[in-house]
Amino acid sequence: MNRSVIVLLCTLLLSISCKQESETSNATVKRSPNVIVIFMDDLGYGDLSSFGHPTIKTPNIDRLAYEGQKWTSFYTASSVCSPSRGALLTGRYPIRIGLGGEKHRVFFPESIGGLPSAEITIAEMLKAQGYRTGIIGKWHLGHLPEYLPTKQGFDYYFGIPYSNDMNGVKWGLDTFFDTPNINMWNVPLMENETIIERPANQHTITKRYTEKAVAFITENKNNPFFLYLPYSMVHTPLFASESFLNTSSRGLFGDVMSEVDAGIGQIISTLEKLQIDKETLVVFTSDNGPWLMMLEHGGSAGLLKDGKGTTWEGGMRVPGIFYMPGTVHPGIIDDMGTTLDLLPTIASLTGASIPSDRIIDGVDLSAVLKDKVTSPRSQFLYYRKQEIYAVRNREYKAHYTTETAYQGNNQKKVLDKPLLFNINHDPSEKYNHSEEHPEILKELNVLVEKYKESIISVPSELDKYPIEE
Ligand code: MG
Repeated sequence: MNRSVIVLLCTLLLSISCKQESETSNATVKRSPNVIVIFMDDLGYGDLSSFGHPTIKTPNIDRLAYEGQKWTSFYTASSVCSPSRGALLTGRYPIRIGLGGEKHRVFFPESIGGLPSAEITIAEMLKAQGYRTGIIGKWHLGHLPEYLPTKQGFDYYFGIPYSNDMNGVKWGLDTFFDTPNINMWNVPLMENETIIERPANQHTITKRYTEKAVAFITENKNNPFFLYLPYSMVHTPLFASESFLNTSSRGLFGDVMSEVDAGIGQIISTLEKLQIDKETLVVFTSDNGPWLMMLEHGGSAGLLKDGKGTTWEGGMRVPGIFYMPGTVHPGIIDDMGTTLDLLPTIASLTGASIPSDRIIDGVDLSAVLKDKVTSPRSQFLYYRKQEIYAVRNREYKAHYTTETAYQGNNQKKVLDKPLLFNINHDPSEKYNHSEEHPEILKELNVLVEKYKESIISVPSELDKYPIEE
């Protein structure tokens, strides 16, 4: 064999091996994307610097908003914790999953119920696709063994089973404001199905959530994963670790936000270091609006009216951010999106199957994420407990019942004539147009009635899974 033939053969072999290598690396790139859902507790629409707060600094979250999509009309399906979390994980309004009733709004340490096991969560949906699934943070969908995250599709759980202010020695504003110490709330910290610390050391809890999240991502760098990261702050009582205390001009609330923001920065740099940032969808949002009765310890809804517990915009419109370099087309989206839409959107991006035996209220937003097309969502129902208080269709929102946040001066008003706002012109809900537009009110009524029929079509749902408190 002469020399030139040998060189030719070597070149050929080298090019085959290069091709195989590049096919392997292409296969890695094309694998199903990882999904991280960061779900804040009681963070208001106005509590990020990228959403207009003048003194809270959130550079890492802001980067996701600027390099990804910042949604300015993004809603959570309930203005309180448990139903909001159930809706996000199932893509269904709380009323359909047993979490919309008078007695079922929020779980407490004495509650005996939880998210019904028959419900299919994003974790279960993705587990069927071979994903590793983890939840790090606050669960709040039932703390008894049969309702824990490990029974709802999660391989790994680290966090608290209900809110960080529960199981307290007493409840009252002074408890939150007078130098709170962690022993005042007997909150358990769990790993999988075991209580590993009680009371949870809330000074270090944010830091530990981040560390666990980084470890989970690193362990699963070679296989698709779903990480649900519901940080238990900025729900009061507020605690920050030593390195963040007294660092923000917004006070303790700002310290706590800085620590969460730094944690999110660590998570993103972990994705970059592992070279999986382009294969990972990161979603950032909040479970409900700010808890205004907590005064300076509560957040801000910015220009929106009222906060947590209400069906005014401040109770249910929250920051919405989607980030995935190379896939999510950067920009500001003022079309509607909701936490209900995460399940179908994630299904579409990962190739998972949406549960077909039940009504899913979410819609697939993936085309908006990729191509900035018009959002397929044009309607949204604002529930309080089991009642529809308000409805939005495109730019118009009608209120049928209004009520201030619970506790204190709680006033429910069933309105003789609904209020009508053009929510695009008037996000603060100041200027009522019901007299000028009876035809729009009529249209909104039809929509509500049509929706109610879909609830009537599953009448046994709530009875089937009685949840007591
Ligand atoms: Mg909350």
